[in-house]
Amino acid sequence: MQDLTEPILELIRLTATNLPPDVEEGLRDALQQEEPGFAARGALETILKNVDMARENSTPICQDTGTPIFYVNYPEGWSTRRMREQIKSAVAQATDKSYLRPNAVDSISGVNSGDNIGDEHFPTIHFEEIEGDELQIDLMLKGGGCENVGAQYSLPNSELGAGRDLAGVRNVALDAVQKAQGKGCAPGILGIAIGGDRGSSFVASKEVLLRQLDDSNPNPEMNDLEQQLTEESNQLGIGPMGFGGKTTVLGTKITSKHRLPASYFVSVSYMCWAYRRRQMVVKNDQVSYQ
Ligand code: SF4
Repeated sequence: MQDLTEPILELIRLTATNLPPDVEEGLRDALQQEEPGFAARGALETILKNVDMARENSTPICQDTGTPIFYVNYPEGWSTRRMREQIKSAVAQATDKSYLRPNAVDSISGVNSGDNIGDEHFPTIHFEEIEGDELQIDLMLKGGGCENVGAQYSLPNSELGAGRDLAGVRNVALDAVQKAQGKGCAPGILGIAIGGDRGSSFVASKEVLLRQLDDSNPNPEMNDLEQQLTEESNQLGIGPMGFGGKTTVLGTKITSKHRLPASYFVSVSYMCWAYRRRQMVVKNDQVSYQ
């Protein structure tokens, strides 16, 4: 099996320092929406300047380099045990090179491990065996501020007038955006999962954030709700970093999971403007990045 430590180190560098083109385009479109001289426009100008500088200097886009979450889709024959070791080694090296800030803190003692390696869940690694001969590794760096404003709802919720349907999903999702205000470092992206159990629902609400910002949901009802939630969130007046303005979210992505008849969970993962996600593909020993 090919040693992927070096290619994964490059994946981490790319993800931490070079915002994906679709996200940058979303931020540049948002800038055009905001009035000159207003704080919202100033915030976006600062964000975009920072994005350019990070790319130029190979330095982190944000001082919070987030929780590293890896999604490994591997063909038959690869060892997940060895890939886990290589990912951990690459994460420790990336921390040493300052592509990542040391972020793994023991929850009881408060001691920082210093190299981003914690228990078996830090970094987070999801493995899935797939058909074919191509290995794909997606990396998402999920900031702490936006993670703090994620939310989960159990429907029905009478306070929010939310029944067990898409109208109810709309109500609770807008509640999450309203409560987040600028604390999730708006303009954000909403990852929403409908159904599952509490755990699988939150996992799915993050995984759906791997979609491209400008794609469409193959389910027409969910696609309409994605458009509606983006528009309605942007009418709340929260704006970039909470300074007011027209852009509170850049996009919304929704997925659904089967659930027990007794439960109807809606999980909202809020991703900040520093929407760092990149993909590495290995095929015939050749590595490419997107
Ligand atoms: S939420 Fe995102 S933009 Fe805000 S500090 Fe954390 S990583 Fe940075």
